[in-house]
This record gives sequence, C-alpha cells and structure tokens, in this order.
Amino acid sequence: MTEEEWVECDDPKPMLEIQSGATLERKVILYLCAGVRSLWMSLYDRRSRDAIAVLERAVDGLASPQDYRDAWYFAESPTFGYDFAPFFIREYRDDESEAESVRRLLDMGVYTEEDIASAVDENEFIGNVRVRDRLQNLAHVVYHAFHCITREGCVDEHLIDHLSRQDGWPRGSLVREIFGNPFRPKPLDLSRITPTVETLAQAAYDDRTVPSGELYKDRLAVLSDALEDAGCTDADILTHLRSPSPHVRGCWALDLLLGKS
Ligand SMILES: [Zn+2]
Repeated sequence: MTEEEWVECDDPKPMLEIQSGATLERKVILYLCAGVRSLWMSLYDRRSRDAIAVLERAVDGLASPQDYRDAWYFAESPTFGYDFAPFFIREYRDDESEAESVRRLLDMGVYTEEDIASAVDENEFIGNVRVRDRLQNLAHVVYHAFHCITREGCVDEHLIDHLSRQDGWPRGSLVREIFGNPFRPKPLDLSRITPTVETLAQAAYDDRTVPSGELYKDRLAVLSDALEDAGCTDADILTHLRSPSPHVRGCWALDLLLGKS
C-alpha cells in the first residue's frame, strides 16, 4: 500500500493488515471499541456493553485483572446465540439476569411473542436471519477484542473477517483517525507539551459523548490553538485536531500529546 492509497482507502482490511508497533494492541482495542460504539443500539446484551467499558479502561491500566477476566468470560455468552433459541427464551425469560436481552430483542422487533410461542423446534433459532447474523457478529467482535493480536504480532485474521462481515462497520476514516498515517510517523517534541496543553489534552480525552464515544470537537480545537501557541508548527497534528470528522479515544494526534503512542 502506498501513502496515496492509504489516504483514499475505504476498506479497513488492508489498512489494519499493515499496522504494527509497540502500541498496536491499545490501538486495535480502541479502534474496535469506537466501531462498536457507532453501532451501539445493536448490542442487545448488557454483557457486550459492559465489556466495551472494561476494555476502554483496560487500555489505560484502569481495569483490574479480575474485571478484565470477568468481562472477557461474560462477553462470550452472547456469541452462543441462546437469546434466539426457543428453549432458552422460554426457560429463562423470567430470570432477572437473562430477561433484559430477550426483552430488548422483542423491542427491536428481531422476533415477536408469537415467534416464541409458535416455535416448534426448540433448538432452531428464531428471528430474521440477516438481523440475527448482524447482531451476533457484533457480539463476536466485542468478544474477540479481548484477543485481537496474534502471537506473530499482527491483527487477528479471524477478527478482520468479522469486521468485513459487519453491516454498517465504519470504513477507512476510523482507521485513519486511530492509527494515523503510517507513512508519516510523528516524532514527539516534548517541549511543545506545556502544562496547559497537557491539561487540555487530558480533558479532551476524558470528557466525551456516550454511548457514541465521540470526543468534543470544540475541546480539540482549543487544544490545537494551545499547541500552536506553544510553538508547534506540525500542520498534520494541528489540522487533524481541528478536523470536523468524528474523533474518539485513541485519536492518533491526541494519543501523541498524551504520550500514549
Ligand atoms: Zn482524531
């Protein structure tokens, strides 16, 4: 892939395949969290939603090993598809911890009370096949986010397959937002990171819209001004922080200022 192709590319697959580096795991996890947050309403199971929150804390060292293990363990449950199986729905729909996802799938219109009542084969999943695949695939993405890097140190191929199959998954712009241009690695000039820049950068990172996960553009614009005032002349960084496209945690320019990449 050339730099020209990178800038124009709209397919995440080849863009993820060329990634490497010491912070690859952090970047991939935040990339996945941002992508999943853009499809938040499709996370029908609370355990998938909880897992995203734990992953986001974990990349900053703010999740305990136990929280991380629990979230990983529970994130697998929605991938089994039991919430679409009549035997499970009938057995557990009054169970406090299981009821929410069934209720949510009913609210989303994925299946109806009549579908549940009239299902003859207890083991045959109910609900629109296409919708079900989309929902289950997204649950897989959340689960695989816990082991997104292979032993060889690249992005897991199986995970990339799930992303390629996911309806509505963000295209190339989210990869560019998180990973930055690999053809222009940025040296970090610490003298530009004044206390003001540091405080503004941290606030821009912490304060965000949920569940979309988008950072506030006005905060990033103010940060860009402060950075320029501090003597930074790097047009790529200054322009990126002022760009109107969505910014999320893991934003390459913000991570650079926070010393996270
Ligand atoms: Zn950004």
